Amino acid sequence: MIDPAEVTKVVKSAYINYQRSYVRKVNENLRKNKRIENTLQKYPFASKVLQLGSLMDPYKDELHLSKALDIILESPVYSRVDERENASKEEDKGLDYTDILVQELLKWYKEEFFKWVNKPICSRCHNDVQEKIIGLPPVKPFTSEHSIGGASIVERYKCLNCQHLILFPRYNNPSTLLDTREGRCGEWNNCFILILKSLSIQTRYLWNAEDHVWCEYFSPKMKRWIHLDSCENAFDNPLLYNEGWNKKMSYVFAISEHYIVDVSDKYIKHNSPNKLPRNKISSTSLQRVLTVFNSKNFAEIQEDKIFYEVITDFINDVEATKKIRDGATVTAKDEDMKPRQSGVGEWTKNRGENGQ
Ligand SMILES: [Zn+2]
Repeated sequence: MIDPAEVTKVVKSAYINYQRSYVRKVNENLRKNKRIENTLQKYPFASKVLQLGSLMDPYKDELHLSKALDIILESPVYSRVDERENASKEEDKGLDYTDILVQELLKWYKEEFFKWVNKPICSRCHNDVQEKIIGLPPVKPFTSEHSIGGASIVERYKCLNCQHLILFPRYNNPSTLLDTREGRCGEWNNCFILILKSLSIQTRYLWNAEDHVWCEYFSPKMKRWIHLDSCENAFDNPLLYNEGWNKKMSYVFAISEHYIVDVSDKYIKHNSPNKLPRNKISSTSLQRVLTVFNSKNFAEIQEDKIFYEVITDFINDVEATKKIRDGATVTAKDEDMKPRQSGVGEWTKNRGENGQ
């Protein structure tokens, strides 16, 4: 008798070997031709895409993760999840523990934890009237605090009440953001991803070429990546931007620890009037750039178990994207299509995201 478990093991190992040799071949071919250098020179957007690959790096730090975990354990989130589990409501059918946990995290994060900032409040006279705070040109980070917090830039404002100069460093370090708990979509997303990762929820970073970021988690129950926008408490509503905000969009990429995928078709409807032309790079060149990045990363994975999981995820991803492109419906409920909630007023209007 052949042990079925033994067969599975042999098949899996053959599959891994096959995929590994395929990845090796792709890498060899890419090394031989020089087209990638030409692509990077011809399209600045190609370099931008490659830079996205490091967006998930800050979430590997164990100290950052345990700091986030402590905050969640002290928060009321888990007891709310338990309450919902016990209530077993009709609308929660089809969701499992992870899904309910993510929904409760989103709600808590938006309503109780993080704060949206258009213009910062004056730290001297506490003036918060937006018209009485005027923007000055930003400067580069200049203190050790700025550099520890990974500030990309320091915005400056002047309070017209008391003439005080207000600084607003745009921090990127997700651990710093657990303390400051304020910002715009970048800060919101960076810190929220850290929280999800600290709970071992499979999460990835979503980047849109028209200046917005959000994230996705993988639902083991629904067996797919679920759109999440922490600034909006939005769950599984991928057309929120393109249709709800009327946001003009061209490219959206999903960045996980090991690969980047083009998920534009999930977030931008094929026939939408808000679909911008994809002219920052030719489609074959974009494909090449992604292949270079991904196959190099795949080749670096030593452990068979991780390699198997990553390759399987990647293949599923490519399949899912193809299905959407071929016309599979993207979840969209009319009542979810609302204009942007965070950053109301002029700031939203200026960005053309107020649904008008
Ligand atoms: Zn003031």
